[in-house]
Amino acid sequence: MAYDENQGGFQRQMYSGNWKCSKCNADITQLPFEPDKDKLDQLLCRDCYREKRQSFGGRRPFRR
Ligand SMILES: [Zn+2]
Repeated sequence: MAYDENQGGFQRQMYSGNWKCSKCNADITQLPFEPDKDKLDQLLCRDCYREKRQSFGGRRPFRR
């Protein structure tokens, strides 16, 4: 077992940088994707991103 506890065993590419969350103004130092320069003012930290995803389609009756 050479892998860490990565789910599925694949390594996720992380991008390091110095950004700000557009919602709570928290520092963002790592992102799982390369941010679009045109959308730097729309970046969300992990917490806000998760919140947004959870509220997104919140009226739908299915859940995971
Ligand atoms: Zn945030």
